[in-house]
Amino acid sequence: MTAIEGPPRPYSNFIPDYLKGSIGKWINHTVVRSGIIEHVDSEGRKVYSVKAGSTPNGRYSTETMRKISELARKYAGGSMRFTQALNMEFITKDLEDAQTLTNELNALGFPVGGWEGHIWNMTSCAGYFHCALAATDAPSILQSLANDLHDYFDKEELPSKLAISVSGCPSSCGGSFLTDISISGIHTEVPVVTDAAKTCDMQGTAFSCPVGAIQLKPLPDGSRTLEIRANLCIGCGLCLSACAGIIFQTPEKTDGHAIAIGGKASASRYGTTLGRIVVPFMPNEPPHYEKTVAVVRKIVETWKADAKKGERISDWIDRIGWEKFFMKTGLPFFQQSMEYLDLRGIMTIREGSGR
Ligand code: SF4
Ligand code: SF4
Repeated sequence: MTAIEGPPRPYSNFIPDYLKGSIGKWINHTVVRSGIIEHVDSEGRKVYSVKAGSTPNGRYSTETMRKISELARKYAGGSMRFTQALNMEFITKDLEDAQTLTNELNALGFPVGGWEGHIWNMTSCAGYFHCALAATDAPSILQSLANDLHDYFDKEELPSKLAISVSGCPSSCGGSFLTDISISGIHTEVPVVTDAAKTCDMQGTAFSCPVGAIQLKPLPDGSRTLEIRANLCIGCGLCLSACAGIIFQTPEKTDGHAIAIGGKASASRYGTTLGRIVVPFMPNEPPHYEKTVAVVRKIVETWKADAKKGERISDWIDRIGWEKFFMKTGLPFFQQSMEYLDLRGIMTIREGSGR
């Protein structure tokens, strides 16, 4: 393996030459059309940002990456970036290049859009790809949602910005709870300690539990094991990554996901807000997760029909109240709605007796 030597190279090495004279001199920007923004500097120079939707969890084949690199070379001065939300962003020197780039991205299957009253981003964590904590297939749910809602990224207008995220568990690496619509995998059983836990770092495993539900239990032979206090456990699954001897017994039956709405990371209007759970449990139903997609579409269409221009989902609910939200969407209200990680409550909903 070749070592990378020397200090990090300055980021300015990786921006087009036609941008360098304008840095720090921007005075205005205008959305020209969905997915293209014109930026103007104090000397009247213009460049154009082009934003394209990405793949779930930002996964690309090397073949696709080469095609994207070639587009960046032809139309964006040899560079591009992936945004925090994993969208692709290119900067072209004129509107004609921006339009040609849009057409070529569309031909590769990538929509260009995602600003103003559109879906800005759809992101997911890796989920089952490589995470022991996952309770749901986050990238597949995201792909199912994108297949159904993609017109809202580049064509159909919404009242305001919309961000959607899917996380495989409540740890929320996918950005959940701070997006307008967030889906999080949930475990709905208390894990059990197996014999294999004897080889684990017991103290460390006990400390891994955020609610102190794991204690060390002495055994008659003088050794120790771990004990989980079921009445405290919130089913987060964090102890599974601390100790391979702790397992969920029937995750294929008990794992699912919850839907929360009204989160946002922006400081606009009333500031940053955490989403609240409106659907406490949905079963995992691959490959297309039709029921989950239908609930999300219902929420989006109700918000679209009822919100004032500029109202994000949290602003809309602040105005109409949660009671009207449930009435207008027709979603069932459970005692456990609006709660966080109420394991026993969610168990009763999973078993069909939650109301
Ligand atoms: S959100 Fe959960 S499942 Fe997804 S990567 Fe993070 S810890 Fe793993
Ligand atoms: S699942 Fe979470 S709350 Fe339950 S014992 Fe493990 S770490 Fe603690």
